[in-house]
Amino acid sequence: MKKIFLVSICIIGFACSRPDLVKELQNARWIDLTHEFDSTTVYWPTDVNFRHDTVFYGMTDKGYFYSSFKYSAEEHGGTHFDAPVHFRKGGNSVDNVPVSQLHGPAVLIDVSEQCSKNRDYLILTDDINNWEHQHGKIPDGAVILLYTGYEKFWNDHLRYTGTLKKGPEGVAELHFPGLSPEASKWITDYRKVNAIGLDTPSIDFGQSKDFKTHRLLTEAGLTIYENLCNLGELPPEGAYIVALPMKIKGGSGAPLRIVAILPPLPQ
Ligand SMILES: [Zn+2]
Repeated sequence: MKKIFLVSICIIGFACSRPDLVKELQNARWIDLTHEFDSTTVYWPTDVNFRHDTVFYGMTDKGYFYSSFKYSAEEHGGTHFDAPVHFRKGGNSVDNVPVSQLHGPAVLIDVSEQCSKNRDYLILTDDINNWEHQHGKIPDGAVILLYTGYEKFWNDHLRYTGTLKKGPEGVAELHFPGLSPEASKWITDYRKVNAIGLDTPSIDFGQSKDFKTHRLLTEAGLTIYENLCNLGELPPEGAYIVALPMKIKGGSGAPLRIVAILPPLPQ
């Protein structure tokens, strides 16, 4: 993608020195695509909620302040990362995904209008192709971000997931958009991307029973980001994504801190 500013500073050849990159990054706009973790964070209906318990908070008997907490969490709740081993035996676990796969130019595909009319919307190859007609071929190493608009329902679990029930009953009532298996297959067959993320609880739509999109993407070695936020602030192209999951050895997924880097606004 020609307009990626981090790359553009390097096309000057020898002028591409390290201080230039440092300066670009210092002046860049950084957008957090990560939700906070607390006891209200969205987890799968069959999972346990995030826990954050106080170990110590206050003045010590030595006269200084000290605070420390402990947390526990399922791998696949809140803003999180799916490693290929999540749905592919022998696939990379979180710790084995190379750092080179944890970043890339953003391709922001806006399907919020389609999803506002249909909670069960399946994002199609046509939606991907529409982006390409306007912006060119999805570049190698890209991070595709699917903006469904559901990020705005985050604090309203019923609207965000379709249900307030827990357990298998809750799973049966999940209704939110996702990426169709057909589009997943097209992406993995014809494009070379690092990851696909979106602002819903799962890359498969809520009513999926076979998680075919997860299976197709992980079979191809892609990683997946779920429960993202602030996608509505991103342009269709020109942002750079850095997505760093907790490095859980053997993990099938992990809590994820993910940011978008954008050129500074013109002054
Ligand atoms: Zn997951």
